[in-house]
Amino acid sequence: MSEHIFIGVAWPYANGPLHLGHIAGVYLPADIFARYHRLKGNKVLMVSGSDQHGAPITIRAEQEGTTPQEVAAKYHQQFTDCWKRLGISFDLFTTTGTLNHTQVTHDVFLALLNQGYIYKDKMLQAYCPRCQKFLPDRYLEGTCPYCGFTKARGDECDECAKPLNTGELKDIHCRLCSTPSRFESSEHFFLRLSSFQEKLTDWIKEQTHWRHNVLGTTWKFLDEGLRDRAITRDLDWGVIVPQPGFEHKRIYVWFEAVIGYLSASKEWAKTQGDDYVWKAFWQNDAKNFYFLGKDNIFFHTLVWPAMLMGYGGLNLPYDVPANEFLTIEGKRLSTSRGRAIWLSDYLERYEPDPLRYALAANMPETGDSDFSWHEFLRRNNNELVATYGNLAHRALTFAYRNFDGTVPTPGELDERSQGLLHKADGTLDDVDKLLYRCEFKEAVKEIMSLAQEANRYIDEQAPWKTIKTERKTSAKSVYTALSVLAALKTVFYPFLPFSSERLHSFLGFDGSVKEGGWRVQFLPPGQQLRQPQPLFVKLDEDIVCKESSRFDSLNDNQKS
Ligand SMILES: [Zn+2]
Ligand SMILES: [Zn+2]
Repeated sequence: MSEHIFIGVAWPYANGPLHLGHIAGVYLPADIFARYHRLKGNKVLMVSGSDQHGAPITIRAEQEGTTPQEVAAKYHQQFTDCWKRLGISFDLFTTTGTLNHTQVTHDVFLALLNQGYIYKDKMLQAYCPRCQKFLPDRYLEGTCPYCGFTKARGDECDECAKPLNTGELKDIHCRLCSTPSRFESSEHFFLRLSSFQEKLTDWIKEQTHWRHNVLGTTWKFLDEGLRDRAITRDLDWGVIVPQPGFEHKRIYVWFEAVIGYLSASKEWAKTQGDDYVWKAFWQNDAKNFYFLGKDNIFFHTLVWPAMLMGYGGLNLPYDVPANEFLTIEGKRLSTSRGRAIWLSDYLERYEPDPLRYALAANMPETGDSDFSWHEFLRRNNNELVATYGNLAHRALTFAYRNFDGTVPTPGELDERSQGLLHKADGTLDDVDKLLYRCEFKEAVKEIMSLAQEANRYIDEQAPWKTIKTERKTSAKSVYTALSVLAALKTVFYPFLPFSSERLHSFLGFDGSVKEGGWRVQFLPPGQQLRQPQPLFVKLDEDIVCKESSRFDSLNDNQKS
């Protein structure tokens, strides 16, 4: 029976371009997971959108001398363009700037308010006497009370990743003008997170299938005790607060961004011609997965579940397979500091699949991982080109030249050939289990080992020798190799959608890999093949030098 799989993907701030850290940590794993479930015949709804609100956007607008609207629109356009080119297959990628999002946010806000989960209180808020305004968290800098980092933001420490309340920072000053800020009283709404401590604790205890690092982070917050959190801010950019007296304040971005998963689902339903079809992904047996970076765990394993518990009637997360961070050549990435490999830049020079492969094979699943151009080159040349691509090219061109461009008729398969086809079946089963549990790195290894085994098989069988004397034996080994390719194009599809579609076509199939389902698609003898082309391109070794110096010069520019 097919399942309903909801995939909520963290909303990127529309304040700067996407870099490889975003892709490895969040968007690629979500896309692999979505493609896998679609191929299995499950119903998938994968949504996200650009987060148009919050101080990162207004700061960027001030830096660029433009409006927050223009900044948000520009990066939203860039995001959708990048998804298309990298093959990130959202069912809907919207923005938090829609009327629908405001309406759904207000609905959740008012439901929580009516039940006493949201209350009004006064809080001290930082005020800059020179700029003459209240300072939202990201306009503030100070020293982290936990690790001593001197450039911690008002809401979170970049160094130790702890969420912070503004009052905790030491030596706070305005980020725009460096003037020390003072605290003034301001009235705000608060989420009564403390009242969910017990319910959340009981619920988290049941999540034994979650990743250790996600559980570990979550338990740390629970053990420290949950505190109520302000959900409005003195700002003029964001979702308005649906209460009188709050005209000059806005809903705090983290509160409405998580509601985006629900508002996007409702928006998607409208595009399907059935306003209520979203419910199939939020109720009963539907499983709700959230993909995000580790700095976002708190909001997805505790805050959003608390909001859902308070609201009632909707599924809590089934799994939150948050990733750790990706470093580049050993250095930590940062959008605000311009230290990154930008995705759009990569896509101008290289194909999407080699990047998808390199990032998936070394995904920061349970610990930080590093991307280097040297490793990228090695994975492309040794694994994609020399192993998988070589297998495809050898088998396809041989069949194309020697069997009239068709799939040869194999006759009876010997034990060795049957064994290999059996391994292909087994790989689909194993990868199925791994992907269901979001173990992407391990899945890539399994798949590549099938390709390696098939290469060994061709070497042993040497169909180019047998073709002269025992045409039948040659046909058998070529048929077996092509059948393994039919398995590989399916099992690699979630990772390498573009090359899988091409291989699907070279093998003589019509339509898309998607339509074949999660099984080794039977290759009919006599099927007309299409003229084969190399699946991957070998890259020159000097790209390592070129790209590394590009990256270093980016860093140097930022420093000066
Ligand atoms: Zn100031
Ligand atoms: Zn810190």
